[in-house]
Amino acid sequence: MKAKNIAILGSTGSIGTQALEVIQANPKHFKVEVLTANSNADLLIAQALTHRPNAVVICDESKFQYINDVLFEKDIKVYAGKDALAQIVAMEEIDVVLTALVGYAGLVPTLNAIDAGKHIALANKETLVVAGELVTAAAKAKGVNIYPVDSEHSAIFQCLVGEWENPIEKIYLTASGGPFRGKNQEDLAKVTKAQALKHPNWEMGAKITIDSASLMNKGLEVIEAKWLFGLKNEQIDVIVHPQSIVHSIVQFQDGSMKAQMGLPDMKLPIQYAIGYPKRLPSDFPRFNFLDYPTLSFEQPDKKTFRNLQLAFDALEKGGNMPCILNAANEVAVDAFLHDKIGFLEMSDVIENCLNSVFFIKTPNLAQYQETDTETRRKAIDLIG
Ligand code: NDP
Ligand code: MG
Repeated sequence: MKAKNIAILGSTGSIGTQALEVIQANPKHFKVEVLTANSNADLLIAQALTHRPNAVVICDESKFQYINDVLFEKDIKVYAGKDALAQIVAMEEIDVVLTALVGYAGLVPTLNAIDAGKHIALANKETLVVAGELVTAAAKAKGVNIYPVDSEHSAIFQCLVGEWENPIEKIYLTASGGPFRGKNQEDLAKVTKAQALKHPNWEMGAKITIDSASLMNKGLEVIEAKWLFGLKNEQIDVIVHPQSIVHSIVQFQDGSMKAQMGLPDMKLPIQYAIGYPKRLPSDFPRFNFLDYPTLSFEQPDKKTFRNLQLAFDALEKGGNMPCILNAANEVAVDAFLHDKIGFLEMSDVIENCLNSVFFIKTPNLAQYQETDTETRRKAIDLIG
């Protein structure tokens, strides 16, 4: 069997580095073909020297020379800039593109990869939130598969294997509840960046960690699930499960429910997405029931964690609303991380943008791009 050639967009991040661990542990199954980073040149160089890809891309063009000076003599091609990132995915040798970059920046490279007929292992949920209809239609037209990396969606996908003929009645996406579970609005008004960056069960990049604390991450995942699994809005439910052992649940039309379980470790869904349909052996730590004698479940508090309600509202309205939600959230999270606004103000910015940016029922790519630009302008204005 030939090893699959993998391109990792965002190899220097949390998902990217874990994907490289998975690949390194399975050299017969995977080979690294392309690595990309935004600006972390030193880590990109170190990864390239270890994994010997054919090419690397750095978005920050000022780092090109620095990287090329080291990698040129190793016969590794170096490219720089956003356009290079968008185009590298069409390289002939790539079998699977792992989209592990964060935010809206993932949209165009993902669309280009689909257009070039590459299968997608999708971590970059923002791409489906922004333009899920467009992306899934393009994948269908090209016969390209989108394998979910997000743990909840990987869980649903794993439950669906062997059930392709059986319609889904409902799915339950599990949510840990984040570091502020049980808190009220008064408490949330006072929480700090350091507290928000401490997730109880997962170690992740800064943006998704803040999204997890505000429950926006679960809102984005509801929208992601709709497009990945072709669901109606009312078929998607969220249930808080603080132990993060049950990664999500599918309910079928006969009432049977299937869940996928395991210790919280992103390496498993990453490996499943790039290794599908095989389950490759791993030495990841195994779950022990007696370490978790109680698995508990509760309703999410959408009144206190308004972002989750705003995401459901955006999904209900459809069109470019999820794109507005995403852009406003990206600006708000960045502002929170730079101490420009408080935790609760993130929801104010998002709600204001949802109420004021122009609505388009069935946007094309250019209109999604306009929506993103306009929403960012508006959100930055609001923050001042
Ligand atoms: P990180 O912030 O850890 O890593 C982001 C990666 O993307 C880095 O390689 C970064 O490069 C690169 N990058 C950042 N901004 C840009 C940009 N504008 N253009 C090109 N490249 C960019 O993020 P995570 O790994 O945590 O998350 C990646 C994606 O996976 C997100 O969409 C997230 O929602 C999703 N996800 C993550 C999970 C996790 O456990 N971390 C779980 C489920 C989903 P550089 O290092 O140079 O800045
Ligand atoms: Mg998730």
